[in-house]
Amino acid sequence: SLTLGIVGLPNVGKSTLFNALTRNDVLAANYPFATIEPNVGVVPLPDERLDKLAEVFGSERTVPAVVSFVDIAGIVKGASEGAGLGNKFLANIREANAICQVIRVFDDPDVVHVDGRVDPSSDIETINTELILADLQTLDKALPRLEKEARTKKENRPALEAAQQAKEILDSGRTLFSAQKELDTSLLRELSLLTTKPFLYVFNADEGVLTDEAKREELTKLVAPADAVFLDAKIEAELLELDDEESVRELLESVGQSEPGLHALARAGFHTLGLQTYLTAGPKEARAWTIPKGATAPQAAGVIHSDFERGFIKAEVVSFEDLTAAGSMAAARAAGKVRMEGKDYVMADGDVVEFRFNV
Ligand code: GDP
Repeated sequence: SLTLGIVGLPNVGKSTLFNALTRNDVLAANYPFATIEPNVGVVPLPDERLDKLAEVFGSERTVPAVVSFVDIAGIVKGASEGAGLGNKFLANIREANAICQVIRVFDDPDVVHVDGRVDPSSDIETINTELILADLQTLDKALPRLEKEARTKKENRPALEAAQQAKEILDSGRTLFSAQKELDTSLLRELSLLTTKPFLYVFNADEGVLTDEAKREELTKLVAPADAVFLDAKIEAELLELDDEESVRELLESVGQSEPGLHALARAGFHTLGLQTYLTAGPKEARAWTIPKGATAPQAAGVIHSDFERGFIKAEVVSFEDLTAAGSMAAARAAGKVRMEGKDYVMADGDVVEFRFNV
């Protein structure tokens, strides 16, 4: 499954956040046979639709989609110089599908900031610089080969040109992800360049920032079009200790939040990875399944079981809104809201589906 790698400067709250991410029982409850790596934190994607679906179908339980975060340990400054930990750090980032940078905006004289002060844009630049330098090294190594390949075969020219263009973009201090509109990064896929990955920013804040609308807007603009999430990592850890909703609400209110930051983080992570969900329901469970945006009906069926994809015949589809408005599957059918879709159908978020297949 797709993962987000958590990176950030020392002392920004990565471990505190990561501990909160690992301390939930969604996997143990719903995926008893899953093995969880110690450096992976899995959070459920909050989805109010599941409870409504469970009501409509009389399902015994709900199973949410999940988002996985990988803790990428290691020093950051100088990582591109490739010594020991630096190499491992870059290799771990290479494996992640998106990068989640934790940025400190909390003020605490007891917690030393590596650069001596809280400065979000400088933190972002520090990480970007390391990743940009690493990509430049990769390109410098690949360019002689790409040049040779372009000389011998005309159809290899676009890859060479993309690599040269990428080098220029990186030389000017920009990430390749931010240059998506001008550069076709699919031509460079074999190089697994780090800065082509989408970014998500988590601002680890205290009450002062969390309740400061203008400050949040300023930080959101700083990282746009990437997603920005604001939370207090220490509070997130404390929230998980509480077992009644009232205390959770009170603690959140005390820092001006209306929901746990981990909920917002799960949604943003899902969005950054380009994922969406479709839903299935029956007497046993109402469940959300994860698919990439643009997935077709057979691909969606394949997430449940590879046999479903191979033997796909058709999908019976109704939108969540139409289904709940009708009140039952039978009523939705009677109202003509349930469609039969074939193998070319592109799934929409919130489709409620029953697959027909040959085994
Ligand atoms: P890491 O080096 O990025 O993994 O940072 P840690 O999670 O170890 O946090 C460094 C220190 O900052 C620890 O003493 C944490 O208790 C503290 N810390 C983390 N998050 C917050 C926060 O939101 N507010 C405050 N005041 N301290 C925090």
